Amino acid sequence: MITATKAKIAKGRLLIDGQWVDGAKTFDTVNPATGEPLTQVIEASAADVDRAVAAARRAFDDKSGPWRKMSASERGRLIWRLADLIEQHIDELAELETLDNGKPIFESRNVDMPMVIDVLRYYAGWATKIHGETVNTFDSAFTYTLREPVGVVGLIIPWNFPLLLASWKLGPALACGNTIVMKPAEQTPLTTLRVGELALEAGIPAGVLNIITGGPETGKAIVKHPGIDKISFTGSTSVGKEIMRGAADTLKRVTLELGGKSPNIVFADSDIDNAVKGAINGIFYGKGEVCNAGSRLFVESKVRDEFLEKLVGRAKKMVPGDPLDPKTRMGAIISQEQMQTVLGYIEAGKKEGAKLMAGGNRTSVDGGKGFFIEPTVFGDVTNEMKIAQEEIFGPVLATLKFDDVEEVVELANRNQYGLAAAVWTRDVKKAHQLSRQLRAGTVWINTYGLMDAALPFGGYKSSGFGRELGQAALEHYTEVKTVWMNMG
Ligand code: NAD
Repeated sequence: MITATKAKIAKGRLLIDGQWVDGAKTFDTVNPATGEPLTQVIEASAADVDRAVAAARRAFDDKSGPWRKMSASERGRLIWRLADLIEQHIDELAELETLDNGKPIFESRNVDMPMVIDVLRYYAGWATKIHGETVNTFDSAFTYTLREPVGVVGLIIPWNFPLLLASWKLGPALACGNTIVMKPAEQTPLTTLRVGELALEAGIPAGVLNIITGGPETGKAIVKHPGIDKISFTGSTSVGKEIMRGAADTLKRVTLELGGKSPNIVFADSDIDNAVKGAINGIFYGKGEVCNAGSRLFVESKVRDEFLEKLVGRAKKMVPGDPLDPKTRMGAIISQEQMQTVLGYIEAGKKEGAKLMAGGNRTSVDGGKGFFIEPTVFGDVTNEMKIAQEEIFGPVLATLKFDDVEEVVELANRNQYGLAAAVWTRDVKKAHQLSRQLRAGTVWINTYGLMDAALPFGGYKSSGFGRELGQAALEHYTEVKTVWMNMG
């Protein structure tokens, strides 16, 4: 049996102008580990979006209102207070995330939630450090720049790291003084809704943070709304393109964090055992539903057989289990639909002649109806195959071989995505040379998947543009104004 939860999950409502309100239509959010509904949430209509935008607009435009009058220091304190409240409710939030997403509680409790708290505290610190510059131009002029909030920002979140990716946007948006209309993914709204309650408890003024639930139609209403100044989107590349088109008419600022097919490159001179662990972690962490998953593994021919033997041995030992069991390291795929997509890619790999070396099947945990897939490894993959080119977004690793540096750089870069890459070698010069040649927003050397609130994250090529985390994110939540005063 999948462990019964102690958390009582209330029906979801919308957070608009500091009030929890109902909507006309609802849908179920499903526990992927059981296939059973968890609760109902609201499918927000265009009229609901309109009300949320009006509230955000008022909170932003009212110069004598609490948000605009608040000092940067007080804004920082509010974000910090929210982080404290999340920390006080960390077990409850981790459990909700696992129930909604199917990820192991080990990940929600020990990785996602601590990073949410860290990201909010990092941006709480930035609130008082956002400033323009005085610029020397003419003796007869006083010229300077102001860094001002963009205005009302629409934040659209995916389902794979629901609260974590929300915090990457929430932290800088609030620190810079914007107001927000945020939409979690339809599959995973629960932690965001709970954080909406905590935000009110923290004292974030009415209208500053509005939370709207729903699917693509709700998202579209946000994207085209003339009252929104900027969209920050994380999700698939195909939806990212739609968002860019949808935002064009109102000339919104847009930042896009999109898909990936990241190369993980292992040289014969690396610490092989560590690289095997890195490859396993790179693809199977988060059930492979990770934008920066190391889903293309390139192994130098000389060590390929030894490497794959160790890798496959480890993959076969990773058995999917109850996500609420603290010992589980492989959880449930987000939905029936995503499970079918992943199984479809596994079939495509077999058809194109790749060699199935581990996994390949749906599996059941304790005879239940959850959406579980065995950790899957393909050998003999070539770079042209579908499983080497397309983002699968599941626990499926394509392994390829190479003979020299030039060849692997060319193969690694020959893909539409450019989110991340990793290099495993003891040769420091080679590692740094490669990190310059790989077209990716992040390059890890002798590790995989590490993140920090202070380090920018984002993509090259079809993986999007703009950066989240670090100081770099602040640029995307502010406008620069030039002030020119004639002193002649
Ligand atoms: P998705 O693109 O299907 O949905 C993401 C969000 O967009 C959801 O909230 C959804 O309701 C909304 N949406 C869907 N269609 C929309 C539309 N036409 N207009 C406006 N909003 C719309 O993505 P997903 O399946 O939730 O997430 C998986 C994808 O996200 C993967 O491709 C993954 O690589 C990517 N991702 C990228 C990063 C990154 O930082 N680069 C991080 C996590 C996930």
